[in-house]
Amino acid sequence: MLSSLASNRAKGLCEVDAVTAHALPAWSLAHWDADDDTVLAAMAAEVTRHTGGAARAVALKRWRHARPTRYVDGPAAVRDGGATLVFAGDAFHLDGGRVEAAWLSGIAAAAAVR
Ligand SMILES: Cc1cc2nc3c(=O)[nH]c(=O)nc-3n(C[C@H](O)[C@H](O)[C@H](O)COP(=O)(O)OP(=O)(O)OC[C@H]3O[C@@H](n4cnc5c(N)ncnc54)[C@H](O)[C@@H]3O)c2cc1C
Repeated sequence: MLSSLASNRAKGLCEVDAVTAHALPAWSLAHWDADDDTVLAAMAAEVTRHTGGAARAVALKRWRHARPTRYVDGPAAVRDGGATLVFAGDAFHLDGGRVEAAWLSGIAAAAAVR
């Protein structure tokens, strides 16, 4: 059910054992209309299962457009006469949905218009 679990302490964001947990897109979609308490309880149970510590959920944020729904291999370039329009971002990399993918896609897009 979880797609990632990150320690905010390890990231230097806080000095307590707080984590940010992301649910898998399919799970999020299936529970989009569930009330906050239900989602928080399910997330806390999953974090407890993975960490072994008794997790208490304190905040919920729903990102409807958090991840691309489709991925493309490399930046998409559209050429029309002398003009070139290049699309880049985390969707334009097969290992997408992360900052690295957006970065690599941006580098490739810059090379495409050079
Ligand atoms: C909650 C959350 C946590 C994340 N944590 C991590 C993490 O720990 N590590 C990691 O690698 N990745 C993480 N990601 C993923 C990462 O944020 C994305 O992969 C990355 O930001 C994608 O970069 P991008 O430039 O492709 O798109 P974005 O960062 O989404 O940038 C797109 C920009 O376009 C703008 N925009 C959209 N539509 C228009 C429009 N019509 N006109 C003008 N501007 C527009 C938006 O406002 C935005 O500024 C996380 C994502 C979320 C949602």
